[in-house]
Amino acid sequence: MDLHIHSLHSDGTMSIEKIIDIAESLNLEIISITDHDTISGVQEAINLVKGKKIKLVPGIEINTEYRKKEVHILGYFIDIFNHKLVETIEYLRNERVNRVKKIITKLNQLNISITFEDVLEQSKGESIGRPHIALAMIKKGYGKTVGEIFDEYIDQGKPAYVERFKLSPYDAINLIRDANGIAVLAHPKLVKDEDIVNELLPHVDGLEVFHSEHTEEDSNYYLNKALQHNLIVTGGSDCHGIGKGKELLLGTVKIPKEYISAFEKIYKERERM
Ligand code: AMP
Ligand code: FE
Ligand code: FE
Ligand code: ZN
Repeated sequence: MDLHIHSLHSDGTMSIEKIIDIAESLNLEIISITDHDTISGVQEAINLVKGKKIKLVPGIEINTEYRKKEVHILGYFIDIFNHKLVETIEYLRNERVNRVKKIITKLNQLNISITFEDVLEQSKGESIGRPHIALAMIKKGYGKTVGEIFDEYIDQGKPAYVERFKLSPYDAINLIRDANGIAVLAHPKLVKDEDIVNELLPHVDGLEVFHSEHTEEDSNYYLNKALQHNLIVTGGSDCHGIGKGKELLLGTVKIPKEYISAFEKIYKERERM
Protein backbone atom coordinates (compact mmCIF):
# COMPACT_ATOMS: atom_id res chain seq x y z
CA MET A 1 0.00 0.00 0.00
CA ASP A 2 1.20 3.50 -0.82
CA LEU A 3 -1.32 6.28 -0.23
CA HIS A 4 0.90 9.29 -0.91
CA ILE A 5 2.22 9.66 -4.46
CA HIS A 6 2.89 12.76 -6.60
CA SER A 7 2.83 12.70 -10.39
CA LEU A 8 3.66 15.01 -13.30
CA HIS A 9 0.29 16.65 -12.66
CA SER A 10 1.92 18.51 -9.76
CA ASP A 11 5.59 18.41 -8.77
CA GLY A 12 6.34 14.74 -9.35
CA THR A 13 8.46 13.52 -12.25
CA MET A 14 6.52 10.40 -13.24
CA SER A 15 3.47 10.00 -15.44
CA ILE A 16 0.40 8.27 -14.01
CA GLU A 17 1.01 5.39 -16.38
CA LYS A 18 4.54 4.88 -15.08
CA ILE A 19 3.42 5.10 -11.45
CA ILE A 20 0.79 2.42 -12.00
CA ASP A 21 3.27 0.20 -13.88
CA ILE A 22 5.77 0.37 -11.04
CA ALA A 23 3.10 -0.07 -8.37
CA GLU A 24 1.89 -3.21 -10.16
CA SER A 25 5.39 -4.60 -10.48
CA LEU A 26 5.84 -4.07 -6.73
CA ASN A 27 2.54 -5.88 -6.11
CA LEU A 28 1.11 -2.98 -4.13
CA GLU A 29 -2.47 -3.75 -3.06
CA ILE A 30 -3.73 -0.21 -3.04
CA ILE A 31 -2.38 3.20 -4.13
CA SER A 32 -3.49 6.81 -4.13
CA ILE A 33 -2.34 9.64 -6.37
CA THR A 34 -2.21 12.72 -4.13
CA ASP A 35 -1.10 15.67 -6.22
CA HIS A 36 -0.93 19.16 -4.75
CA ASP A 37 -4.14 21.11 -5.42
CA THR A 38 -5.16 19.09 -8.47
CA ILE A 39 -7.17 15.99 -9.29
CA SER A 40 -6.38 15.95 -13.01
CA GLY A 41 -4.19 12.86 -12.55
CA VAL A 42 -6.90 10.97 -10.70
CA GLN A 43 -9.27 10.70 -13.65
CA GLU A 44 -6.42 9.40 -15.79
CA ALA A 45 -5.53 6.88 -13.09
CA ILE A 46 -9.14 5.68 -12.75
CA ASN A 47 -9.18 4.85 -16.46
CA LEU A 48 -5.78 3.17 -16.39
CA VAL A 49 -6.54 0.78 -13.51
CA LYS A 50 -9.77 -0.51 -15.05
CA GLY A 51 -9.57 -4.28 -15.25
CA LYS A 52 -6.43 -4.40 -13.13
CA LYS A 53 -6.05 -5.99 -9.71
CA ILE A 54 -4.52 -2.91 -8.08
CA LYS A 55 -6.95 -0.67 -6.20
CA LEU A 56 -6.88 3.09 -6.72
CA VAL A 57 -8.12 5.63 -4.19
CA PRO A 58 -8.90 9.11 -5.58
CA GLY A 59 -6.71 11.52 -3.64
CA ILE A 60 -5.41 15.04 -3.23
CA GLU A 61 -2.93 16.85 -0.98
CA ILE A 62 -3.78 20.40 0.07
CA ASN A 63 -1.00 22.50 1.56
CA THR A 64 -2.55 24.68 4.21
CA GLU A 65 -1.18 27.13 6.72
CA TYR A 66 -1.87 27.41 10.41
CA ARG A 67 -0.10 29.77 12.79
CA LYS A 68 2.68 30.28 10.22
CA LYS A 69 3.29 26.54 9.95
CA GLU A 70 2.77 24.34 6.87
CA VAL A 71 0.08 21.75 7.48
CA HIS A 72 -0.71 19.29 4.69
CA ILE A 73 -4.11 17.68 4.51
CA LEU A 74 -4.70 14.58 2.41
CA GLY A 75 -8.14 13.85 1.03
CA TYR A 76 -9.10 10.29 0.09
CA PHE A 77 -12.19 8.93 -1.68
CA ILE A 78 -13.09 12.45 -2.79
CA ASP A 79 -15.79 12.96 -5.39
CA ILE A 80 -13.73 14.48 -8.19
CA PHE A 81 -16.83 16.07 -9.71
CA ASN A 82 -17.83 17.94 -6.55
CA HIS A 83 -18.34 21.55 -7.65
CA LYS A 84 -17.01 23.27 -4.58
CA LEU A 85 -13.89 21.11 -4.57
CA VAL A 86 -13.24 21.66 -8.27
CA GLU A 87 -13.77 25.43 -7.97
CA THR A 88 -11.68 25.85 -4.84
CA ILE A 89 -8.66 23.97 -6.15
CA GLU A 90 -8.93 25.88 -9.42
CA TYR A 91 -8.72 29.08 -7.40
CA LEU A 92 -5.70 27.72 -5.52
CA ARG A 93 -3.98 26.85 -8.79
CA ASN A 94 -4.63 30.35 -10.19
CA GLU A 95 -3.09 31.78 -7.05
CA ARG A 96 -0.06 29.54 -7.67
CA VAL A 97 0.35 31.06 -11.13
CA ASN A 98 0.09 34.62 -9.78
CA ARG A 99 2.63 33.86 -7.12
CA VAL A 100 5.10 32.25 -9.54
CA LYS A 101 4.87 35.42 -11.65
CA LYS A 102 5.66 37.56 -8.61
CA ILE A 103 8.66 35.38 -7.73
CA ILE A 104 9.93 35.71 -11.32
CA THR A 105 9.67 39.51 -11.07
CA LYS A 106 11.77 39.42 -7.90
CA LEU A 107 14.32 37.10 -9.53
CA ASN A 108 14.52 39.41 -12.55
CA GLN A 109 15.27 42.29 -10.17
CA LEU A 110 18.14 40.15 -8.85
CA ASN A 111 19.44 39.99 -12.44
CA ILE A 112 18.34 36.42 -13.00
CA SER A 113 16.87 36.24 -16.43
CA ILE A 114 14.09 33.70 -16.46
CA THR A 115 10.61 34.07 -17.90
CA PHE A 116 7.24 32.61 -17.03
CA GLU A 117 7.50 30.50 -20.20
CA ASP A 118 10.77 28.97 -18.96
CA VAL A 119 9.01 27.89 -15.78
CA LEU A 120 5.91 26.68 -17.59
CA GLU A 121 8.13 24.43 -19.69
CA GLN A 122 9.20 22.62 -16.49
CA SER A 123 5.65 22.13 -15.29
CA LYS A 124 3.91 19.53 -17.36
CA GLY A 125 0.87 19.42 -15.16
CA GLU A 126 -1.63 21.80 -13.68
CA SER A 127 -0.08 22.64 -10.38
CA ILE A 128 2.87 24.98 -10.93
CA GLY A 129 5.18 25.83 -8.04
CA ARG A 130 8.59 26.73 -6.77
CA PRO A 131 10.16 23.37 -7.72
CA HIS A 132 9.48 24.26 -11.37
CA ILE A 133 11.11 27.67 -10.93
CA ALA A 134 14.16 25.93 -9.48
CA LEU A 135 14.30 23.50 -12.41
CA ALA A 136 14.07 26.38 -14.90
CA MET A 137 16.90 28.16 -13.09
CA ILE A 138 19.07 25.02 -13.12
CA LYS A 139 18.48 24.69 -16.86
CA LYS A 140 19.74 28.25 -17.31
CA GLY A 141 22.81 27.57 -15.19
CA TYR A 142 21.84 29.46 -12.03
CA GLY A 143 22.45 26.49 -9.76
CA LYS A 144 22.97 22.75 -9.59
CA THR A 145 20.22 21.41 -7.33
CA VAL A 146 16.67 22.35 -6.42
CA GLY A 147 17.68 22.48 -2.75
CA GLU A 148 20.48 24.92 -3.50
CA ILE A 149 18.13 27.28 -5.34
CA PHE A 150 15.55 27.11 -2.54
CA ASP A 151 18.33 27.93 -0.07
CA GLU A 152 19.67 30.84 -1.99
CA TYR A 153 16.56 32.44 -3.50
CA ILE A 154 13.06 31.09 -3.04
CA ASP A 155 12.73 29.53 0.40
CA GLN A 156 10.92 31.42 3.13
CA GLY A 157 13.10 34.35 4.23
CA LYS A 158 15.17 34.32 1.02
CA PRO A 159 15.31 37.32 -1.38
CA ALA A 160 12.83 36.09 -4.00
CA TYR A 161 10.33 34.50 -1.59
CA VAL A 162 6.67 35.37 -2.06
CA GLU A 163 3.85 34.04 0.11
CA ARG A 164 1.14 31.96 -1.41
CA PHE A 165 -2.54 32.10 -0.56
CA LYS A 166 -3.36 29.03 1.48
CA LEU A 167 -6.48 27.62 3.05
CA SER A 168 -6.53 26.88 6.76
CA PRO A 169 -6.45 23.19 7.71
CA TYR A 170 -10.06 23.48 8.87
CA ASP A 171 -11.13 24.82 5.45
CA ALA A 172 -9.34 21.95 3.73
CA ILE A 173 -10.88 19.35 6.06
CA ASN A 174 -14.38 20.73 5.41
CA LEU A 175 -13.77 20.91 1.67
CA ILE A 176 -12.71 17.26 1.56
CA ARG A 177 -15.59 16.08 3.74
CA ASP A 178 -18.13 18.07 1.72
CA ALA A 179 -16.81 16.20 -1.32
CA ASN A 180 -17.53 12.90 0.44
CA GLY A 181 -13.89 12.30 1.24
CA ILE A 182 -11.98 11.48 4.39
CA ALA A 183 -9.47 14.05 5.66
CA VAL A 184 -6.08 12.82 6.84
CA LEU A 185 -3.37 14.87 8.50
CA ALA A 186 -0.25 14.25 6.39
CA HIS A 187 3.25 13.57 7.77
CA PRO A 188 2.58 15.07 11.23
CA LYS A 189 6.27 15.10 12.08
CA LEU A 190 6.89 17.60 9.28
CA VAL A 191 4.43 20.06 10.80
CA LYS A 192 7.17 20.61 13.38
CA ASP A 193 4.65 21.77 15.96
CA GLU A 194 3.02 19.20 18.25
CA ASP A 195 0.54 21.72 19.63
CA ILE A 196 -0.92 22.15 16.17
CA VAL A 197 -0.96 18.39 15.57
CA ASN A 198 -2.72 17.80 18.89
CA GLU A 199 -5.24 20.53 18.16
CA LEU A 200 -6.10 19.04 14.76
CA LEU A 201 -6.34 15.37 15.76
CA PRO A 202 -9.96 15.58 16.99
CA HIS A 203 -10.94 17.23 13.68
CA VAL A 204 -9.53 14.78 11.13
CA ASP A 205 -10.61 11.30 10.09
CA GLY A 206 -7.16 9.85 9.77
CA LEU A 207 -3.46 10.28 10.48
CA GLU A 208 -0.53 9.51 8.17
CA VAL A 209 1.38 7.47 10.70
CA PHE A 210 3.78 5.86 8.22
CA HIS A 211 5.80 8.18 5.97
CA SER A 212 9.23 8.19 4.34
CA GLU A 213 10.39 10.98 6.63
CA HIS A 214 9.13 9.38 9.84
CA THR A 215 11.53 7.29 11.87
CA GLU A 216 10.28 4.10 13.50
CA GLU A 217 10.07 6.06 16.73
CA ASP A 218 7.95 8.77 15.06
CA SER A 219 5.62 6.15 13.61
CA ASN A 220 5.15 4.45 16.97
CA TYR A 221 4.47 7.80 18.59
CA TYR A 222 1.87 8.82 16.01
CA LEU A 223 0.35 5.35 15.91
CA ASN A 224 -0.47 5.77 19.60
CA LYS A 225 -2.01 9.17 18.95
CA ALA A 226 -4.08 7.78 16.08
CA LEU A 227 -5.36 4.91 18.23
CA GLN A 228 -6.16 7.26 21.12
CA HIS A 229 -8.29 9.40 18.82
CA ASN A 230 -9.82 6.48 16.96
CA LEU A 231 -8.37 7.65 13.66
CA ILE A 232 -7.86 5.79 10.40
CA VAL A 233 -4.17 4.87 10.19
CA THR A 234 -2.62 5.59 6.78
CA GLY A 235 0.83 5.56 5.26
CA GLY A 236 2.62 6.55 2.11
CA SER A 237 5.99 7.33 0.61
CA ASP A 238 5.34 10.90 -0.63
CA CYS A 239 7.20 9.78 -3.74
CA HIS A 240 7.95 12.62 -6.18
CA GLY A 241 9.66 10.37 -8.73
CA ILE A 242 13.28 9.90 -9.48
CA GLY A 243 15.61 12.73 -8.56
CA LYS A 244 19.32 13.02 -9.17
CA GLY A 245 21.05 10.53 -6.88
CA LYS A 246 17.81 9.77 -5.08
CA GLU A 247 16.23 6.35 -4.86
CA LEU A 248 12.66 5.80 -5.94
CA LEU A 249 10.47 6.01 -2.85
CA LEU A 250 7.35 4.47 -4.36
CA GLY A 251 6.17 1.54 -2.24
CA THR A 252 9.15 1.67 0.14
CA VAL A 253 7.30 2.70 3.30
CA LYS A 254 6.47 -0.38 5.33
CA ILE A 255 2.96 -0.48 6.72
CA PRO A 256 1.87 -3.29 9.08
CA LYS A 257 -0.61 -5.69 7.47
CA GLU A 258 -3.41 -4.91 9.92
CA TYR A 259 -3.56 -1.27 8.78
CA ILE A 260 -3.48 -2.26 5.12
CA SER A 261 -6.40 -4.64 5.77
CA ALA A 262 -8.28 -1.96 7.70
CA PHE A 263 -7.87 0.51 4.84
CA GLU A 264 -8.88 -2.10 2.26
CA LYS A 265 -12.03 -2.64 4.28
CA ILE A 266 -12.88 1.05 4.00
CA TYR A 267 -12.13 0.83 0.28
CA LYS A 268 -14.58 -2.04 -0.13
CA GLU A 269 -17.29 -0.24 1.84
CA ARG A 270 -16.81 2.81 -0.38
CA GLU A 271 -17.03 0.71 -3.52
CA ARG A 272 -20.50 -0.35 -2.50
CA MET A 273 -21.69 3.20 -1.89
P1 AMP B 1 5.19 25.50 -3.50
O1 AMP B 1 3.99 24.62 -3.51
O2 AMP B 1 5.41 26.25 -4.78
O3 AMP B 1 5.27 26.39 -2.29
O4 AMP B 1 6.44 24.50 -3.37
C1 AMP B 1 6.45 23.57 -2.33
C2 AMP B 1 7.18 22.33 -2.80
O5 AMP B 1 8.56 22.64 -2.95
C3 AMP B 1 7.11 21.21 -1.79
O6 AMP B 1 6.06 20.32 -2.08
C4 AMP B 1 8.43 20.51 -1.92
O7 AMP B 1 8.32 19.45 -2.86
C5 AMP B 1 9.37 21.58 -2.49
N1 AMP B 1 10.29 22.16 -1.50
C6 AMP B 1 9.97 22.94 -0.43
N2 AMP B 1 11.07 23.34 0.24
C7 AMP B 1 12.13 22.81 -0.41
C8 AMP B 1 13.55 22.85 -0.22
N3 AMP B 1 14.10 23.54 0.78
N4 AMP B 1 14.32 22.17 -1.09
C9 AMP B 1 13.76 21.47 -2.11
N5 AMP B 1 12.45 21.40 -2.36
C10 AMP B 1 11.62 22.05 -1.52
FE1 FE C 1 5.52 18.17 -3.44
FE1 FE D 1 3.16 17.08 1.98
ZN1 ZN E 1 3.18 15.02 -0.60
